[in-house]
Amino acid sequence: MPTLQNKVAIVTGSSSGIGQSIAIRLAAEGANIVVDYRSHPEGANDTKAKVEAVGGKAILVQADVSKLSDTQNLVDQTYKQLGRCDILVNNAGIEKGADFWDVTEQDYDAVLGVNLKGAFFLTQAFVRRLRDAKLPGRVINISSVHEDMAFPHFSTYCASKGAMRMLTRNLAVELGPLGITINNIAPGAIMTPINTALLGDKPKLDALLKNIPLNRLGKPEDVAGLAAFLAADDAAYITGSTYVVDGGLMVNYHEQ
Ligand code: NAP
Repeated sequence: MPTLQNKVAIVTGSSSGIGQSIAIRLAAEGANIVVDYRSHPEGANDTKAKVEAVGGKAILVQADVSKLSDTQNLVDQTYKQLGRCDILVNNAGIEKGADFWDVTEQDYDAVLGVNLKGAFFLTQAFVRRLRDAKLPGRVINISSVHEDMAFPHFSTYCASKGAMRMLTRNLAVELGPLGITINNIAPGAIMTPINTALLGDKPKLDALLKNIPLNRLGKPEDVAGLAAFLAADDAAYITGSTYVVDGGLMVNYHEQ
């Protein structure tokens, strides 16, 4: 029997990249999927079609996770249309590059608003329902190796992912007694639209590949497999940690 039979999962930002791949993989494991998107309904529809192609069911909900009312509506729509919600994948994320001294308030608010505030308040809405119903749940955050590793010229991104790391540890303690686990996945360099500029810059890409022991960029599916594991019964005793999926990038320091 599929491991996630009869479960319902919200996957934020599942109109593209890693989120789309996680939605498809959780559906292949038997879960019904809430495809959240912000600005690309065509991407969300593509995800829905791919979920259905593996035998799953999907609904679409447009929600900008940086807006509190949208996060509330996302959870409300999930219960209204699918009757329950067992798994939350906080995947939606953006990055904006700039030297630290040039970062604008607008870009700071945009990055922290999606990557941190979005995950924070959506998790709150998800948890409140489970707490009231005395039901267990799983939260999986798509963080980044940059919750730990410096990324010069992306200080807002690093601040958001570093905060996500600490939020997960804190919530593991608060949510444990409710039977809700929370973990982070920290991808390295994965081939998705967020890396379009990098993929088109051969010298930069070659330099990056030299730092990756497995000598390739990751695929969204490399991340989705771990998300499926963390959502399944086998991961019931795992909470408060980060799991790195980076081809060895983070540990690859050696003397030249
Ligand atoms: P992507 O292909 O650019 O996808 C980003 C997704 O986030 C899109 O579906 C987008 O929806 C959604 N999104 C953006 N802002 C949103 C908002 N305000 N509300 C709801 N959804 C929103 O990027 P990706 O590479 O798959 O990234 C997914 C996650 O992985 C991010 O958290 C990112 O930080 C993390 N990550 C990626 C890499 C990598 O190398 N790719 C590495 C480490 C961590 P619309 O397109 O519909 O607006």
